[in-house]
Amino acid sequence: MKVCVYTLGCRLNQCESEAICDSFLKEGYEIVKENDEASLYIVNTCTVTSKAEQKARRMIRIFSKKGEAVVVTGCYAQMNEKEIKSLSDNIICIPLVKKASLLDLAKHIKTSLVANISLFDSVSSFAEVETSPFSYNAQSFSYHSRAYLKIQEGCDNECAYCRVHIARGKSQFLDPNEVIARALELERSGFREIVLTGVNLTMYDHEGEGLGGVLLRLLPKLSLNTRLRLSSMEPDHIDEKLIEACSDVRMHPHFHIPLQSASDKVLKRVNRKYSASHLEWVISNLRAVKDDPFIACDVITGLPGEEEEDFEITRRFLEEKQFAALHVFPFSPRPDTPLMNAKDRVEERVRDERALILRELSNKLSDAYITRQIGKKSEVLLESRKNGAFYGTTGNYLKVKIDSVPLNAQRGEILKGHIEKKGVFIVDES
Ligand code: SF4
Repeated sequence: MKVCVYTLGCRLNQCESEAICDSFLKEGYEIVKENDEASLYIVNTCTVTSKAEQKARRMIRIFSKKGEAVVVTGCYAQMNEKEIKSLSDNIICIPLVKKASLLDLAKHIKTSLVANISLFDSVSSFAEVETSPFSYNAQSFSYHSRAYLKIQEGCDNECAYCRVHIARGKSQFLDPNEVIARALELERSGFREIVLTGVNLTMYDHEGEGLGGVLLRLLPKLSLNTRLRLSSMEPDHIDEKLIEACSDVRMHPHFHIPLQSASDKVLKRVNRKYSASHLEWVISNLRAVKDDPFIACDVITGLPGEEEEDFEITRRFLEEKQFAALHVFPFSPRPDTPLMNAKDRVEERVRDERALILRELSNKLSDAYITRQIGKKSEVLLESRKNGAFYGTTGNYLKVKIDSVPLNAQRGEILKGHIEKKGVFIVDES
């Protein structure tokens, strides 16, 4: 039987989906891509923006026509099961708190198919139970060349625009010894790059051991050839220990910061728990421990209360700090959040103009970043092969075509070399 797991949203969702794929592979099922035909589709949804929900509905409609059963889970399914179920009769929603039970679905289907029960009836009769959010522990990755390891769940912050903390609940952590054991297991399985994920990764704080603390315990245990990335770093809990961990050679020079605004007034208005001066501290320290790292950020335009001068403060900050990429989101009020009916909303036209300005700035900053990297020593993870050429992502997160790959090179391998020009990586002769 063919199964497709389609994922929207963050790297954490990707990580959880991969673990679900892994459980189906172990039972002998085939994992296919979204354009292929499958009997069972699993859609792992996101609720961050209304666009992500729209896309989920579109894909669920398509899959419900192609497959016998569509399982929908994730943050959107948690927040609006009724809306999703109304899309078709062959949809089964699994709420977020029971999502990890999907790791047992493959076994359940296998047993019921032997008893001649239809796939839809089998999935409908699946008695999902609440399981630990850290049950996801994939040892194989169907849709990625790198490994993903979930070490944190939920968030104790209450940013006024966010639905994720409502859907995912309070912050929880994977025990540090288990973080180390799982990372070493992935390394032993041959993964050269591991991405640590969580809803709010920097909120990791097991018995006073922050993210920096657990990394400083883990990194020396890994081979000098293994590389780590952090999926995202919320600024409020970035501290000296975490910066120290980021200086390790095993940490890729790539950091993603959901900054949202650099205006103290706006940050306070939307209940973000840091100031522009802390952002300054974070950026300058990351730059101090890595040579011109790829620092990307999320930024929201038109947050309630964002006046022209606040926007200008943010724009100038982004330009001065030379971010390598900006992920720009025009603010859209989300149901169940305090900003849903904010009185100080910014006109949509103004919000969109600001988004356009920042997207243009992002193009300029990205080009400047790539230009600065030309000729510099770098590493690349081999991800895919097309028409004889390899494609991959460098340690500092540039997508490249790789020339002169050794004949015996394999997907998932890391090679050393340098960027020759935009989009082209040359492997060093060994
Ligand atoms: S830090 Fe804020 S935006 Fe991020 S998950 Fe927590 S509440 Fe949401």
